[in-house]
Amino acid sequence: MLYGFDIGGTKIEIGVFDQNLNSLWTKRIKTPLDGYDSFLNSIVELVAEADHKFATVGQVGIGMPGFINNKRKIYSTNITAINQQPFANDLEKAIKRPIFINNDANCFAISEAFNDDFNAHQTILAVILGTGLGGGIVVNRQVLSGLNGCAGEIGHIRLPIDALNVLGQNMPILPCGCGLSGCAERYLSGSGFEWLYQYFYQQPLNAKQIIEQYYQGDSVAKQHVDRYFELLALYLGHLIMIVDAEVIVIGGGLSNFAAIYQEVPSRIAKYILPRMALPRLEKARFGDSGGTRGAALLCLKPLSIEQLYKRN
Ligand SMILES: [Zn+2]
Repeated sequence: MLYGFDIGGTKIEIGVFDQNLNSLWTKRIKTPLDGYDSFLNSIVELVAEADHKFATVGQVGIGMPGFINNKRKIYSTNITAINQQPFANDLEKAIKRPIFINNDANCFAISEAFNDDFNAHQTILAVILGTGLGGGIVVNRQVLSGLNGCAGEIGHIRLPIDALNVLGQNMPILPCGCGLSGCAERYLSGSGFEWLYQYFYQQPLNAKQIIEQYYQGDSVAKQHVDRYFELLALYLGHLIMIVDAEVIVIGGGLSNFAAIYQEVPSRIAKYILPRMALPRLEKARFGDSGGTRGAALLCLKPLSIEQLYKRN
């Protein structure tokens, strides 16, 4: 049995899955924010409840926002009680089993990568165009984490210099919450999409309103979307030169904007080397519900994931 935890700043969700990744049970609680011990205990209690319910000792995978380095040290911006604490070791001691932990974007990526339709592909890049811009890289069914757990932190890659050809030479290099400046997240996330509209047209519309106007044929919205798609294509071209993914899966709120899949692929070609094949550009299959699923998948060794693929 696999237990996947999706831990956020407001709620903790556990999903219990069988070895074929069928969902058997889920439960959601509020994230305790009154200290490290109550946070740790809430997870321990959920594990105990699942063990009891299914009369088993399940494997535990955990996905949470933040940076988890290769020594499993966590830096979280929204669950600060956990920082500087040996959370993974403490949890393992309390529940008497090893745990697998990774950040939520990487869990999203591995959940999307495990999909009947993508089984044949070895390299998958997930791009989350939500409030922020996140991502994850899955190679041969395994998440790439890196030294600092920052592999796939594609929102904090700075925009390539030719972005100025799309945005205009006077485009400000915006400071980012991460401490760097000019990060792709500031321009290409859902918030960036709205910020660019405000910047060019001095009108505070949200993404939903802009997209509605685009589909109604509004010329300003069309110009804005055209510029955004060109910037997105340029940026994805940049990422393709690093990971050369076979599939790029788009998640987050903007992934529902269907025109992305019709308009962006043909624009990417001019930003990659001639004769390179374009990757498939696909909408996320599992989206937000993939959090617990992806965390559960962290528990599986490459060999058992391979067997899962074959079975499906
Ligand atoms: Zn940044």
